[in-house]
Amino acid sequence: MTKNDRRTLTEQLRCAKIINSANGKEVLGLTVNYHTHTHLCGHAEGEIREYIEKAIEAGLTKLGFADHAPQFFEGGYGPAIRKNMRMTPKEAEKYISDIRAYSDEYKGDIKLFCGFEAEYFPTIFAKLQSFCRDYGVDYLILGQHCLTIEPSDFWVGAPTEERSFLTRYVDEVLEGISSGSFSYVCHPDVCHYVGDDAFYRSEMTRLCVGAKKLGIPLEINIKGLCDNRFYPSDRFVNLAKSVGNDMILGVDAHNPSDLHNENDRRKVSEFLSRNGITPLDDITLRKI
Ligand SMILES: [Zn+2]
Ligand SMILES: [Zn+2]
Repeated sequence: MTKNDRRTLTEQLRCAKIINSANGKEVLGLTVNYHTHTHLCGHAEGEIREYIEKAIEAGLTKLGFADHAPQFFEGGYGPAIRKNMRMTPKEAEKYISDIRAYSDEYKGDIKLFCGFEAEYFPTIFAKLQSFCRDYGVDYLILGQHCLTIEPSDFWVGAPTEERSFLTRYVDEVLEGISSGSFSYVCHPDVCHYVGDDAFYRSEMTRLCVGAKKLGIPLEINIKGLCDNRFYPSDRFVNLAKSVGNDMILGVDAHNPSDLHNENDRRKVSEFLSRNGITPLDDITLRKI
């Protein structure tokens, strides 16, 4: 490697700037993003249009909205259901029609997709599937934030040494993606098991092997990385790398500015190069 090449590489890593071949614009290491929230879920900020305009400014050619899906709980959104976590079915109807209208308005600038990030709650999942099919939703991504069903069960981001929680998390992710309705697994390492390392590795290898068999990519969650959360971890992505999983970057934008943040992209670039990971440029969305 010549001195010049070295400088180029260092420059690239520092700035993480690449050119999007689809539109010739300089982008910050990202040309598509399928993990975008909106204010409708109750804990993100920004209107749909603001996210679209930020994505265009950042040089993205595809933007997928995947705000937290409505869930069809028996008894509706009663007081025991976690607040500010997701939109209602009524709000979802407007979300879908707004994204459709914007798709048309912005079609010369960016391709938009209307999706949801959803937990797989086995007893009510069929209701979500039929809602999505009825309204022509483009895709689902799996974000298993809670085991089995709210409100009674375990929130997976809470640290635990309880082995059965990790096992159930892996079981439920695998069962969820076996439905064929999910295009990828969001923050696959979101279950905050802090117990025995060998047990962690064996259970998470099971998750990776199952996802690989089904051809489902695993996300490297940019929000987690840039907020210095416990995920994505070097430990997990190296397991996935050794299993040979496809990986895809997801911004998990909860604010329009997340879509165009040079500092965040630099962290992503460092994370990828430190772990020797080349994520997919894009994925094929699965029919729900
Ligand atoms: Zn969220
Ligand atoms: Zn998310």
